[in-house]
Amino acid sequence: MESGSWKKQLRSGISNAGELCTAFPQLAPKRAMIEEVTATYPVFINSYIAGMLKGPSDPLWRQFIPDNAEIDDTGGMVDPLAEDSTSPVPNITHRYPNRVLFLVSNRCAVHCRFCTRKRKIGRSFEVTAATITQGIDYISRSPQVRDVLLSGGDPLLLPTDQIADILGRLSEIRHVDIIRIGTRVPGVLPDRITAGLARMLASFKPLYINTHFNHPVEITPQSRRACALLADVGIPLGCQTVLLKGVNDSADIMCRLMEGLLSMRVRPYYLHHMDYTRGTAHFRTSLSAGLDIIRELRCHASGMSVPHYVIDLPGGGGKVPLTPDYIHAVDGNALLLKNFQGKLFRYDIEAQDAETFSAPLAHTPVI
Ligand code: SF4
Repeated sequence: MESGSWKKQLRSGISNAGELCTAFPQLAPKRAMIEEVTATYPVFINSYIAGMLKGPSDPLWRQFIPDNAEIDDTGGMVDPLAEDSTSPVPNITHRYPNRVLFLVSNRCAVHCRFCTRKRKIGRSFEVTAATITQGIDYISRSPQVRDVLLSGGDPLLLPTDQIADILGRLSEIRHVDIIRIGTRVPGVLPDRITAGLARMLASFKPLYINTHFNHPVEITPQSRRACALLADVGIPLGCQTVLLKGVNDSADIMCRLMEGLLSMRVRPYYLHHMDYTRGTAHFRTSLSAGLDIIRELRCHASGMSVPHYVIDLPGGGGKVPLTPDYIHAVDGNALLLKNFQGKLFRYDIEAQDAETFSAPLAHTPVI
């Protein structure tokens, strides 16, 4: 497909209730509800994704079609990760000492109904030349920052020369060692990834791309081609998946997704437990559902296809990985370990390890 096709897919996207009901007449009886939901949480579905939507039972429908459960959910938090309160300058979140999150785009190729930045996406969220310069200035005067994660919105929706300009200015900062880009574009607007864009990105090293796929149906010939273009120029690719009730909360779906990602040279990186974002409670699964999936992945797939299952702690506490409990008991100088089939094995350990494993958990104040 020619390189301008992605712009057409954006231009011909669905951005209001009327367009949505015209494209999907089965939604017409719900138009008033959709208008109400989208007044708070705007809709956008580009025409590539719109062409893949089949009906309420398909996994893309639930990710992108507005639902009254969004406005019914008045719990949760507007900014669950406290990104705004750990922001020294607009659009920078500086939580961990050596890395920052830098929002450089206010636009996405689709509006995901479960997004943690639901408070911003499609709403009053300003990214300007001035905020980008302020962000770069902040990073350049913060020598402890070695790793910059560009996000948004989606950085790859910016014009190519603007992305090159941002990457160029960041690359000139001597203490910045790594630049990462978080993007859903390879899966939801794959024609945006052109050979020219990939070559430009690859000229800034070391650059990592963390993409975002949630279901095997997102792996299409077009998204395979997009990932191949990026991998062929040597850009390491990872994937962040969100565990979503009614979309991908089964081991079979996750197995197919993770194996599909690896076949595109995309390494599964994180499986996110849903944040406590207001308007998204209908997507949240139990933690045991997530742990069961990880256990099954370990059983049926190679270690490379098992992502870190993480909770991002509310209030800006950062990410904590969760693992199925493989230590069944401590027996003297041995651990009784449960393998992927649930069988117990005895594993001898050193005396100092026996002390570590048998020590009661220290009391730590809860924040
Ligand atoms: S692409 Fe990412 S930032 Fe944009 S709406 Fe989806 S999850 Fe949110």
